[in-house]
Amino acid sequence: MLESSLEKHIVDYAKRRGWWMTKIKDMSCNGAPDRRMICAKTGRIIFVEIKQIRGRLSEGQKEYHKKLKAHHQTVWIVDSITLFREKLDDLKRKDLEL
Ligand SMILES: [Mg+2]
Repeated sequence: MLESSLEKHIVDYAKRRGWWMTKIKDMSCNGAPDRRMICAKTGRIIFVEIKQIRGRLSEGQKEYHKKLKAHHQTVWIVDSITLFREKLDDLKRKDLEL
């Protein structure tokens, strides 16, 4: 599946589950993840890098992810709608346990 098609599926799926998903364009730095999503219920923020299967992160992306994690942000690298669903369902389960 093309990255653009996968992105569309991911955005649609997240929206149906109450997440606001925006595209990221960071003019100050290369390597920003494709999307930032914010949960309407919890306010949780997740950054999502969408890749084709076997797609690799650029050095800029690796650096950007490192910075986000250093600031206690969550970054997912997703190469299929199945993986995205699993991560979202897993997160929902954890939030319900809190
Ligand atoms: Mg991408």
